[in-house]
Amino acid sequence: MKIHEYQAKNLFSSYGIPVEKYVLCNLAGEATKAYDDMAMPRVVVKAQVLTGGRGKAGGVKLAKSRDDVTLYAGSILGMTIKEYTVEKIIVSEAVNISSEYYVSFAIDRNSKSAILMMSAEGGMDIEEVAATTPEKIYKFPIDPLIGIPGYLARKFAFYLFKDVAQVNQMASILQKLYKLFVDKDASLAEINPLVLTGEGNLIAIDAKMTFDDNALYRQPQIHALFEPTEAEKVEAYAKEKGFSFVHLEGEIGCMVNGAGLAMATMDMIKLYGGRPANFLDIGGSSNPNKVIDAMNLLLKDPDVKVVLINIFGGITRCDDVASGLLTAFNQIETDIPVVVRLTGTNEREGREMLKGTRFKVAETMSEAVHMAVNN
Ligand code: ADP
Ligand code: MG
Repeated sequence: MKIHEYQAKNLFSSYGIPVEKYVLCNLAGEATKAYDDMAMPRVVVKAQVLTGGRGKAGGVKLAKSRDDVTLYAGSILGMTIKEYTVEKIIVSEAVNISSEYYVSFAIDRNSKSAILMMSAEGGMDIEEVAATTPEKIYKFPIDPLIGIPGYLARKFAFYLFKDVAQVNQMASILQKLYKLFVDKDASLAEINPLVLTGEGNLIAIDAKMTFDDNALYRQPQIHALFEPTEAEKVEAYAKEKGFSFVHLEGEIGCMVNGAGLAMATMDMIKLYGGRPANFLDIGGSSNPNKVIDAMNLLLKDPDVKVVLINIFGGITRCDDVASGLLTAFNQIETDIPVVVRLTGTNEREGREMLKGTRFKVAETMSEAVHMAVNN
């Protein structure tokens, strides 16, 4: 899960990591008012979207007057950055930058630990630095049992700074950022750039955090910051209903019991020249409510042209599944063709019950997939 810069900065502040002053605004008029209230000659107007690269896309502008603020706020609000529409901006204190650094903690699968990454070449071109001069990015795996005690924090800080006052500021930022990263089950906590000001202070003027979705159940404060995209809203609905669901690009909606069978169904659809619209494992049981919830989920996707229900009846008997399907579809209003393949315990009885109804009944998986693809 991602959060906005202003939200990450709120977290930074609560952990004592220095950030510049900023005001969140939804309208250009609010930005002008924020400028008046802040009483600073120069401010930066910044798009709040869940993606990086805002500076290069024109979503970060230095304003030197009240009119500049109104103009930039008006042009940034509503602009599109990498498919995200800007709905919020911050008006930030313009910081007197002497140099820009990069600092982040991330999960590193190779060292099976958190890893600290730092560079003196921070700023908007960090991807370029990583690609062409990777030696300029220092990497230090963090032992979870040791963490970052003072001596280590200072050791790391000396890689970027010579001046003792700055080393101490940096050491403190590293310890606080690591604590925030661990406390909140983050998968990334990034400051790019961390700037050294003309006055000799270190300030985080950008902040990016992502969190482990599997840990959100124990991070209510973080979960409350979730702003789902349309696709994520659908996935959240699926999760709430207890389904494993992944949205895909195709037209064939799949409803399957068991993850392995769901994977095999998708493979076979591809093999026969079709495209699955989703992966959906509805789990065991023949409860009609489950089928209703699953159909509601599939019908949220306007691309779905046909639904393929592929059920293996083991403990769940196929006749129970058939009766569940009949009950469920009494309550579902759709003209979309529905192909059903039932196999396993009482499959014949199940198929018999579905004959002459709205369902297209197949005997084998291959037949069912053909029917769905050629529908
Ligand atoms: P992004 O990483 O999405 O491009 P940043 O917040 O890093 O956005 O901003 C891009 C650049 O704009 C920074 O590298 C910095 O040079 C400048 N900048 C951003 N915020 C400020 C600020 N408050 N004061 C001065 N310069 C800023
Ligand atoms: Mg940045």
